[in-house]
Amino acid sequence: MTNIVNHWIGGKTAEGASGTYGPVTNPATGEVTTKVAFASVDEVDAAVAAAKEAYLTWGQSSLAQRTSILFRFRALLDEHRDEIAGLITAEHGKVHSDALGEVARGLEIVDLACGINVQLKGELSTQVATRVDVSSIRQPLGVVAGITPFNFPAMVPLWMFPIAIACGNTFVLKPSEKDPSAAVKLAELLSEAGLPDGVFNVVHGDKVAVDRLLEHPDVKAVSFVGSTPIARYIHTTASANGKRVQALGGAKNHMLVLPDADLDAAADAAVSAAYGSAGERCMAISAVVAVGSVGDTLVEKIRERAEKIKIGPGTDPSSEMGPLITKAHRDKVASYVEGAAAEGCEVVLDGTGYTVEGHEDGHWIGLSLLDRVPTTAKAYQDEIFGPVLCVLRAETYEEGVALINASPFGNGTAIFTRDGGAARRFQLEIEAGMVGVNVPIPVPVGYHSFGGWKDSLFGDHHIYGNDGTHFYTRGKVVTTRWPDPADAPAGVDLGFPRNH
Ligand code: NAD
Repeated sequence: MTNIVNHWIGGKTAEGASGTYGPVTNPATGEVTTKVAFASVDEVDAAVAAAKEAYLTWGQSSLAQRTSILFRFRALLDEHRDEIAGLITAEHGKVHSDALGEVARGLEIVDLACGINVQLKGELSTQVATRVDVSSIRQPLGVVAGITPFNFPAMVPLWMFPIAIACGNTFVLKPSEKDPSAAVKLAELLSEAGLPDGVFNVVHGDKVAVDRLLEHPDVKAVSFVGSTPIARYIHTTASANGKRVQALGGAKNHMLVLPDADLDAAADAAVSAAYGSAGERCMAISAVVAVGSVGDTLVEKIRERAEKIKIGPGTDPSSEMGPLITKAHRDKVASYVEGAAAEGCEVVLDGTGYTVEGHEDGHWIGLSLLDRVPTTAKAYQDEIFGPVLCVLRAETYEEGVALINASPFGNGTAIFTRDGGAARRFQLEIEAGMVGVNVPIPVPVGYHSFGGWKDSLFGDHHIYGNDGTHFYTRGKVVTTRWPDPADAPAGVDLGFPRNH
């Protein structure tokens, strides 16, 4: 029987009332296992109303109350890691160990939220003028929304809501309709941890639900993570409706390999970062830039390693790479490889037409490796979001940096070298929000913020870390004077107040 995933509104399951559902498929079998309710405008309004009502008390609750609930949530999340990873594998397809890694990185943000009291400490200046003190405080915004992508169904929501609710906001999450179950599990765990009803709500759906959140007058801020065209749309629309917005988009992450690099380590890193999660990571390495003479050796080392990767269902502990999210996406990824030779690429490995015995209807594709890729090739220009690695050649460090900086994307990038001076130059010269030095996927820890530049992020704030606290709060400055009874009356003075 097909499962149904419903909304979570006001602390309980809310059955879909719109009559519209979307299919959720197990990518390893191609079978539709679940249908997910798609919210109407009225259902989104009900979720926002529940969040608004809850904000009346949650926004006034003490830091001690909020963080004690988050500590309980952290313990529950830890306890249910395996179960959540299982839900992710069943709907996303990534292998179980990778899904566990996603939960672990999400947990880091809960750690940060448990200590939000340190981040929310205000500032006080005493005696700025005679008997005058000034304090700066930060306060929550109210109801905030999160709209998240399919590729990290637990981690990306966890980048957002722990910080938002720790700061005193209430939250409405619209997770990806392709793998919605992890979000509902997170809602259940929050409830079990003692979170008051309405503080965290989940509405499922498509553009109808998203558009309502973007225009709803009671939604004060929108956090979005997804593809670049939708991120740009979310930023423009939410901003036009007067909301604070951070919209993280797609990527084409480059890895620059200098001639002095440890080529075995670079090849290991390239294969792990390009093909992990079947390339469906916003921080995947999708372009390697080989500098000088290292190209041929590096490509050979990558090919040797890539050929050994075991592809299979995410539930099989021996699988290293699972299927892609949908058949349509698999076919789109394949089309880049099929067109590569005509665009001037050398096809070293062709993963198209791959299948897994016993799971023929799964969304399989093998690993592809394209060498001497011209920057004009679509395989280079587009975010493919699949297991396709492009290798480009550059004569010098400067040529490599110029090539990377010409990309419209600027999410993450990495340099592989033994030369500290070159690595330092790269950190300063490269136009990307996150840089790895001999680290291929430089996803920042929870207490440093995550975010890209250029077409990889629209808005002023990166996500989580200090930026997260800043995004989910607004500043207030209080100037206080307590006159001494002995002071002479100040009298009326129409001049602009001066401090003395
Ligand atoms: P997507 O943009 O298709 O969808 C993201 C969210 O937007 C989903 O909740 C979806 O329902 C909604 N959405 C889709 N089309 C919409 C429309 N026309 N109007 C309003 N809402 C719409 O992204 P995806 O395919 O789920 O995820 C993959 C993308 O996300 C990749 O581009 C990847 O790079 C990006 N991503 C970026 C980061 C980052 O941190 N920069 C992290 C993870 C994923």
